[in-house]
Amino acid sequence: MSEHTTSSPILTRRDFLSASAGAAILFAVNGFPAGALAAEIHSLPPLPYADNALEPVISAKTMGFHYGKHHKAYVDNLNKLVAGTELADLSLDKIIAATAGQPDKAAIFNNAAQVWNHTFYWQCLKPGGGGEPTGALKQQIEASFGSMDACREELAAAAATQFGSGWAWLVQDGDKLKAVKTGNADLPLTMGMKPLLTIDVWEHAYYLDYQNRRADYVNAVLDKLINWDFAAANLGA
Ligand code: MN
Repeated sequence: MSEHTTSSPILTRRDFLSASAGAAILFAVNGFPAGALAAEIHSLPPLPYADNALEPVISAKTMGFHYGKHHKAYVDNLNKLVAGTELADLSLDKIIAATAGQPDKAAIFNNAAQVWNHTFYWQCLKPGGGGEPTGALKQQIEASFGSMDACREELAAAAATQFGSGWAWLVQDGDKLKAVKTGNADLPLTMGMKPLLTIDVWEHAYYLDYQNRRADYVNAVLDKLINWDFAAANLGA
């Protein structure tokens, strides 16, 4: 797993796009045609921390499978599915928008959305996270939920009650913050809401460390890993 570890700071969309562009150049100089594989080939962005940095809440073993196998597979599948299609040159966001809600494009949507969701999720966690937000985010949470404790309870409830695979989110919907849940690969972007934070509640996110105890995983993430600075940056963006 050492090849996946990095000490780089929070991954920005610009980094993500630069990495994609870099990959395209690499392919071009290696003799691939400049068409389908060029401009927007999707790449697995580096983790924003080492694969053991979230222990003991999330083990390096879980990260190895979750990032190194699951997230990577979504990237690889997406590249295969869009190659040679009219979606090949589109950015990840545009592929998601172009395929959402279309049954004949479900495989592309699912893989593209899962690439987006996981890249976002890694940034929602950090070693030494947890605690409480400050500033404008704290004020908006208190205005929308009544208190920080109520916000945390609603997020934990969204994570606990998502039946089967999916995601719990803190979102901005108009001028209110809300806790929402989505199934499988679905994400708030296609519902007109701005995501601030997410917690992955697919079993692959926690089963090696917590088995069936999803609530223990969610509470440990909220207590020790959740990255309120990232949420605040998203709120301001
Ligand atoms: Mn996942």
